[in-house]
Parts: sequence; structure tokens; C-alpha cells
Amino acid sequence: MTTRPLQDRHFRKLNYLRISVTDRCNLRCIYCVPRETLPRLAHTDILRYEEILRIVRIGVALGIDKIRITGGEPLVRKGLMDFLHQLQAINGIREVNLTTNAVLVGPFLEELHAAGVRRLNISLDTLRRERFARLAGQDCFDQVWDNILRAFDLGFAPLKINVVAMQGINDDELTEIAALTRQQPFQVRFIEYMPMGNPQLPNDPFISNEDVRRRIASLGNLEPVARGANDGPAERYRLAGAIGEIGFISPRTQHFCGDCNRLRLTASGHLRPCLLSDRELDIKAPLRRGADDRELTDMFIRAARAKPSRHQLGAECGQPVASQMNSIGG
Ligand code: SAM
Repeated sequence: MTTRPLQDRHFRKLNYLRISVTDRCNLRCIYCVPRETLPRLAHTDILRYEEILRIVRIGVALGIDKIRITGGEPLVRKGLMDFLHQLQAINGIREVNLTTNAVLVGPFLEELHAAGVRRLNISLDTLRRERFARLAGQDCFDQVWDNILRAFDLGFAPLKINVVAMQGINDDELTEIAALTRQQPFQVRFIEYMPMGNPQLPNDPFISNEDVRRRIASLGNLEPVARGANDGPAERYRLAGAIGEIGFISPRTQHFCGDCNRLRLTASGHLRPCLLSDRELDIKAPLRRGADDRELTDMFIRAARAKPSRHQLGAECGQPVASQMNSIGG
């Protein structure tokens, strides 16, 4: 079945699907995982791989050609490598990428590469071992760092290091983290903290990216890097002579909704039109009721129509987002 490419009411073409394959995670990052222990999704409530593949095929017929796998932590789910091979084999998929905390990725790096994954986004909010343990609930810094270096040696590129900049948590080392790019060919990306769900943090630790830029100014000028067709929302820069890049993703101070080309599929089987708006459409229910392709196509079209022109989260927090980040996947 061929259908017209997916477009929302604001004429944005949606060709990018972010899929959370699990709500479970091996880490308990204080800014992501909720304060109270929420019940995890029952196995039967999580989309099976074959269900995700069916949904993706419907999306591909509507112009989806780029996929990012996220979680929870995608590598805690069994069978991920076979699933990635199957995804990659779908005619029309241009790229399949992965977001991970890189703790468990080591033994899978070669196979990930063989499965065609090239773009890895790795979350790392500190270069200090003890701080990592406090922030993420487990002492895994060395493992993560080794895996980052190995991933680079294996040819994953670009290798993006996602850093959520947070007041009183890691703001004293942002310069050090940015300076990494002088010696390492990574793209370090500072992400503004987004208040979602009920995180373990007592206060909003928000630092604007403008503030981050001021803090790292001692490293020298940031030279803009030309944007590529495949770029996401990051504004990209380079320090003079550096081999890596510094990017800024500023959802609270410079929303980039005008260029948003994304839909999300949650682990529980909901299409989510906007990360920062709680509206979701249940695609799992019709799928499990035996819906035909036309009905599922219609779900995508309805999700596209429900995409707001922009989200409502600003520097002053605005409308809080009820969903937990770890159930959507960022
Ligand atoms: N477990 C994987 C990981 O750690 O990369 C994938 C899931 S995680 C939810 C995806 C991304 O969301 C990470 O880069 C994480 O730093 C980011 N993230 C989580 N909570 C956030 C928040 N409240 N504000 C901004 N970014 C957040």
C-alpha cells in the first residue's frame, strides 16, 4: 500500500520515528527515573518486536525512513540485535540509530555495526567516577568510557555524547566536558534539562544553554559548523583546532519545533506526536484487535494531525509534562 507522505497540520513532513523498546533501565539517573518506584510495564503490555516491525512497515509506507531506538535502556531488552537486523532489512529504511547509556553495549558493538547502526548517542553527564555513581545509581563510569572509545575505534560516527547540564549537579565540570572535544572526535551535546514526570530532584536544576556557553567561554571562540541535511535540533560548533564538536540542544530557551520531523512510539504501544506534550494515541489496541493496514495507517495520520505547532515548556517551566522520560526515550 502506498500512501501520501506523512505531514502534520503545520506542513511539517514527519519521516523520523523514535521507538522506545522498553521502559526498563539498568541505571537510575536522578533527572530521568522517578522518585517513587513506579510499577513497570508488564511484559504483555510492551510491544513485541514483531508488532513494532509491523508498525514500522506502516510508517515506512507513509515516508518514515529514519529510526532511532531508545528506552529505558534498549540493551536490557533481549533479542535487540536480531530486531535491529530485521528493522534494517525493511525496504525504505535509510538509517537505524541507537541511544544508550553505553553500560551494556560493549559485547554488542561489533554486531551493532554489522547491523548497520552507525550513529550512537551516548548519555554521559559527568567525567567523574564517584559523581557518575551518585547520579546514575551505579559505579559504571569506566565501563562507559571504555565502550565510548571502542565504539569510536569500530567506526561509529558521529558519536554523540549527550550531557544534561544541571545546576548544582554537574555545572562545575561543563568546561572540562566541552574541552574533551579538543582531543576526542566526539560531538558533545549540552541538553537543557526538561522537567518531566516526578524526578528525584528536589528543584528544577535548569541551566540555559546560553549560560553553558558563558561558562565554557574560557576555552575560546566557538566556530559554527555548517548544518547537514541529516542534522537534528543541535546547533553545532567547534573550538579552534578541536577534532570534536560542541552542540547545544535548547528545548526550553530556543524551541526547535518548527523543524520537528519526529513521531515517537512508546514501549507501551502509543504513538506520541510530541515529546513534551502528554497526548498519545494507542496503536497497540487496534493492532492486537486485528486491525488491517488501513486502520493502522489512519492511526499514524491521526497522530500527525495531533502534533502541536510547538511545545509549551519554557525556561520558566510552563506546563509540566506528566510522562516520565524513561518511558518515552527522549
Ligand atoms: N537509556 C538510554 C540513555 O541513557 O541514553 C536512552 C533513554 S534516555 C531517556 C534518552 C536521553 O534522554 C538521554 O540522553 C538522557 O540524558 C535524556 N534525558 C533523560 N531525562 C531527561 C531530562 N529530564 N531532561 C533532558 N534530557 C533527559
